[in-house]
Amino acid sequence: MSRKIAVIGGGFAGLSAACELANAGCAVTLFEKNETTGGRARSFAQAGFTFDMGPSWYWMPEVFQEFFERYNRQTSDFYDLIRLDPSYKVIFEDGEEINVPANLEELKSLLEQWESGAGKQLDAFLAEAKVKYDIGMGEFVWKPSLSITEFFQLKVLTQGIKLQLLGNMKSHLRRFFSHPKILKLLEFPVLFLGAKPSDTPALYSLMNYADIQLGTWYPMGGMTKIPEAMTELAVALGVTIRCGAEVKKINVQNKRAQSIHVNNEVLEFDAIIAAGDYHHIETKLLDESHRKYSSNYWDNRTMAPSSLIYYLGINKKIAGLLHHNLFFDRDFEVHASEIYDEPKWPSAPLFYACVPSKTDLEVAPEGSENIFILIPVAPGMESTEELREHYLKDCIERLERKTGESIAPHIVYKRSYAHEDFQRDYFSFKGNAYGLANTLRQTAFLKPRMKNNKVDNLYYAGQLTVPGPGVPPSIISGLVAANLCLKELNVRKMAITTLSNDKRSRA
Ligand SMILES: Cc1cc2nc3c(=O)[nH]c(=O)nc-3n(C[C@H](O)[C@H](O)[C@H](O)COP(=O)(O)OP(=O)(O)OC[C@H]3O[C@@H](n4cnc5c(N)ncnc54)[C@H](O)[C@@H]3O)c2cc1C
Repeated sequence: MSRKIAVIGGGFAGLSAACELANAGCAVTLFEKNETTGGRARSFAQAGFTFDMGPSWYWMPEVFQEFFERYNRQTSDFYDLIRLDPSYKVIFEDGEEINVPANLEELKSLLEQWESGAGKQLDAFLAEAKVKYDIGMGEFVWKPSLSITEFFQLKVLTQGIKLQLLGNMKSHLRRFFSHPKILKLLEFPVLFLGAKPSDTPALYSLMNYADIQLGTWYPMGGMTKIPEAMTELAVALGVTIRCGAEVKKINVQNKRAQSIHVNNEVLEFDAIIAAGDYHHIETKLLDESHRKYSSNYWDNRTMAPSSLIYYLGINKKIAGLLHHNLFFDRDFEVHASEIYDEPKWPSAPLFYACVPSKTDLEVAPEGSENIFILIPVAPGMESTEELREHYLKDCIERLERKTGESIAPHIVYKRSYAHEDFQRDYFSFKGNAYGLANTLRQTAFLKPRMKNNKVDNLYYAGQLTVPGPGVPPSIISGLVAANLCLKELNVRKMAITTLSNDKRSRA
């Protein structure tokens, strides 16, 4: 008889877990509190514009391709993917701006203009980063990280040394480069990981490899095409998807999750994959005696930043911007300190402006621009309308100065989004946007565990557990949790290898 499994949450982690479980023959029901799946990657349409609400950088394209290949599909069955070139624009404090080319040789020439020998150094830096990428993405992210002993095999330990877990990104980069603009450019991908370069293990130069060698891509129609594709796949694999279905309680008896409360029903399952916010599941759905972590534990976690976001519809085209634009035109150290060291609303923040209408005519009316602005801010803050307006005015003025275009009078649609919205929409702990910061003390088995040892058949997935935040890691998280569950239910032996691992071992 097929096992009945509930998946809580329809973000990337919940969707990937549901696909994997259904493909193994389980009867899977996915419960999502919102009206659509996608979680942080939902979209909304207003005034002729379609806005991606969260992620906008499509990195590590092979993770998506391999996900669909597990079920004999391709990304191209669902969406058209294009590589952006230039990858993105960076605007520096002195007003200089550069378009980062997709081509490595062109990038090396650009760096050479700032620092003699930097091109060769980039080759050396990327060679190390590739090793880390291959080991990290091929081996480490596929471990459920339930115990340190998973990392005790000789091969893994030897590889672990190459990962440079103990050094940090700040000093690692300075082994290769000294020009401040090169350092800023190469420190940028680390900002995705939610910690300062000085607190981020040097392991994460693998993100530079992803950025420079694997490229920045865009699915036509928007990032929302990814969860739409995963939802379509899940349904095709037999998953029942119930939106508008908030799970209110997990009932536990004799160390087993027996049933869940959802929309005034009590439904029984053999196992549960909890792919919503970990803290919310623990503190709101489980009785205290069944929780894995105390409130003290959560209070001591270092969260990745939250974000203050604006979705803007502009009724004219704006020259001088690319699809991705990083406004590094203020002091990074000051902004970072106001996020991590002394959390407060930033005095002079850096920001990111995404203009998908530069690539995709479908996301804005003809002759218009769709702009998404994101300011990273400390988690756990509150905002007023006045405060949100203050930061919007600052960003618009900087955009106007940089592009020489008048923008403010052309805003025909405007919506802001911050901590309170993350909490309301996703039950996000402290209103976080990207989960936990990837510091060394919160890496692998030091992250909130995938398994609750007080409840045998309850598994966690998503950006607050392993391997961590970001779209590719969340997809992987769902796959790993699903395989752990399948193994423990004796449905099948755990498969921790990726397709690329198989390919690698055959090579
Ligand atoms: C603004 C922003 C920008 C980002 N940019 C990028 C980027 O460019 N590239 C990148 O790779 N990553 C990016 N990320 C990170 C990435 O989007 C996330 O790490 C990823 O989407 C997390 O997926 P998830 O499935 O773990 O969680 P979520 O997306 O939060 O999904 C969890 C789902 O569970 C549901 N849920 C929670 N509790 C319950 C309940 N009790 N009952 C029913 N449903 C419940 C929630 O409604 C939600 O839909 C960004 C994130 C944000 C917020």
